[in-house]
Amino acid sequence: MANIKVPYLDLKAQYHSIKAEIDEAIARVLDSCQFVLGPEVAQFEKEFAAYCGTSECIALNSGTSALHLALLAAGVGPGDEVITVPFTFVASVATILYAGAKPVLVDIEPRTFNMNPAALDAAISPRTKAIVPVHLYGHPADMDSIREVARKHKLVVIEDAAQAHGAKYEGRSVGSIGDIACFSFYPAKNLGAYGEGGAVTTSNSEYARAIRMLRDWGQDRKYHHCLHGYNYRMEGFQGAILRVKLRHLESWTETRRAIVKTYNEHLAGADIVRPAEMPWARHVYHLYTLRADNRNALQAALLNAGIQTGIHYSTPVHLQPAYANLGYGPNSLPESEKAAREVLSLPLYPELTESQIQTVTDTLTALRCVS
Ligand SMILES: *Cc1c(COP(=O)(O)O)cnc(C)c1O
Repeated sequence: MANIKVPYLDLKAQYHSIKAEIDEAIARVLDSCQFVLGPEVAQFEKEFAAYCGTSECIALNSGTSALHLALLAAGVGPGDEVITVPFTFVASVATILYAGAKPVLVDIEPRTFNMNPAALDAAISPRTKAIVPVHLYGHPADMDSIREVARKHKLVVIEDAAQAHGAKYEGRSVGSIGDIACFSFYPAKNLGAYGEGGAVTTSNSEYARAIRMLRDWGQDRKYHHCLHGYNYRMEGFQGAILRVKLRHLESWTETRRAIVKTYNEHLAGADIVRPAEMPWARHVYHLYTLRADNRNALQAALLNAGIQTGIHYSTPVHLQPAYANLGYGPNSLPESEKAAREVLSLPLYPELTESQIQTVTDTLTALRCVS
């Protein structure tokens, strides 16, 4: 295999760029010995709520826990249906099953890879309780159209914003558009912890109160359990680390967007489909995902030139063996299946060097030159 010139991800480069601040934050937690929840986590909750424009943020131990508790707080349970998309990370669908409900899957809109609002109406039944749009790759879903359907049928909208910290829809931050929103701070996400992490944001104080209890064994006070709860608490270290990184997030996002501009300009002549940004969107480019025919051959050729890429996702959830019993066979959700065959994610992180960016665009243009 060729020498790796452009790794798909480089978490070390980012750590080194903020090492002094991070090391100081970790030392603070060690000194305080507040290892679970505690003041750093509470402060992070305030800062992240302010960033998203909500009154509440509840910090958790993963994005998966966030989806699970958001569904429970919304009252989703056995006998209910929840509508989401199959072209997403498995957690968007799996957590609906955690809550005891039935996932109902609708297809995506091919330009943004997000939920197609036109497919939503047809999927509503008397049992539908909630909709989980995913802001895939950092591009917001078409929230006005989705909220309009939700309003008509009195459904709860739960945003899966795990890939979209800081993304905007019509100028409004994701996390504040639906009734509840879920974020992941998995290390590779745009805002990543140094371990597992997640959060729910909402401006509904009843949902917030329920989620606060559910993350800590359903307690409203110590050893008084009024709900069937979980241990989904965020660690003190992660709160302190996320506070440091949140201060850099906007500048990192702007750097991602600048790199995307370069990618788009230099790849304009290549035989690939570049990612779209709708006029109403601020895309935060968690991923730069293009479409190409013969995608697997392209990925192999790039690797041969020292460029690592990713595929998000090679199999839509409804065609995964564990979810075959949801009842959607091949060709049932054609846009999702087509996307799964064509997508390829290029390296994209704020620490990419100019020469690495050029290596990517030169190589890809040479491999896919149109003339
Ligand atoms: C990462 C991710 C999740 C799950 O978050 P974890 O923190 O890994 O549990 C959920 N949905 C989407 C779309 C994701 O990308």
